[in-house]
Amino acid sequence: MNYIVFDLEWNQAPFGHGRSNPKIPFEILEIGAVKLNAHRKTIDEFHETIKPLVYREMNKQTQKIVHLDMKELKDSKTFSPVARHFLEWCGSDYIFVTWGPSDIFELQRNLDYYRIQYDFPKPLLYYDLQKLYSLAEDDGKRRPALQEAVEAMGIPETKQFHGAYEDAWYTAEVMKKLNIKPVLEYKSVDYYHLPDSKDEEIRLHFKTYDKYVSMAYDSKEEALQDKAVTAIRCTKCGMPVIRRMNWFASSTGNMYYALIQCPIHGNVKGKIRIRKTRGDKIFIVKTIKPATDQDVEDLKARKEAVREKRHKRVEKEKAARRRRKGKAQGQSGKKDGSVKQTDQVQSSTK
Ligand SMILES: [Zn+2]
Repeated sequence: MNYIVFDLEWNQAPFGHGRSNPKIPFEILEIGAVKLNAHRKTIDEFHETIKPLVYREMNKQTQKIVHLDMKELKDSKTFSPVARHFLEWCGSDYIFVTWGPSDIFELQRNLDYYRIQYDFPKPLLYYDLQKLYSLAEDDGKRRPALQEAVEAMGIPETKQFHGAYEDAWYTAEVMKKLNIKPVLEYKSVDYYHLPDSKDEEIRLHFKTYDKYVSMAYDSKEEALQDKAVTAIRCTKCGMPVIRRMNWFASSTGNMYYALIQCPIHGNVKGKIRIRKTRGDKIFIVKTIKPATDQDVEDLKARKEAVREKRHKRVEKEKAARRRRKGKAQGQSGKKDGSVKQTDQVQSSTK
């Protein structure tokens, strides 16, 4: 199996978000890719610029980053032939590698906009090298810029950054140098095409955590009614175990946390993230992983902080209600007062 390491440059509505076409908020202007074999040796390269058909002028913010020139792009091919060529070039036995999750998403959105057929597997698993780099070299949570990784790995900076070909090339170089074996199981799931039904829901089991990606729901409330969403079991033995903390919401309401205890394998924590779909629905990404004593303390503190925040909010609302009530009474009193005042004013003018 080959690795297709690719990178895209794209433009967006030049005159602000209001002029954006919601079907294609980001129009791809350049595709760059490096094909690596299973031993991570470069076997081919791909580079094409694209003549834009949606946004004919460059967004000012984009222009600051991307080095593409609209005048030069007018001589390029349009997206459809370039994309077809790219998909053909990828071959049939490959896995995508990108720096961050957005390129895979925007590639599919552009393919759909131009109604180009593609037969990516479902679910589409890929390597987010930014994540793998973080897992191998950092804390696994931070998402460093490509240039930071290139510098940290001592890769000679012979090319300019923020070009599709150049960034794909740098990403491939990071992949070659990275101690990849220990992190190679951590594939990412593409969220562009979500599960259409309960049967298609995604459950991945990694060495250090379990991941679940749900189908789409109309609302958070509907999702949280679903037993599959709130199920939490020991990642090692799969036993449903003692609940130490039921699911509780973060103060923003976008995250939920829970804690269980397996008599054999110890504490296990769950995290539910509420995410928006491309439409106006939501879906759930749940991760379950063993919890350290520190994790348990952190969760307790988080729950307490949420409770305190809610308590403060309730108190504030109560106070506001009291004020409104007082004001309502005060207003009627004030009315009397103002009448008096007018009398006074009148009397003083007299
Ligand atoms: Zn267990």
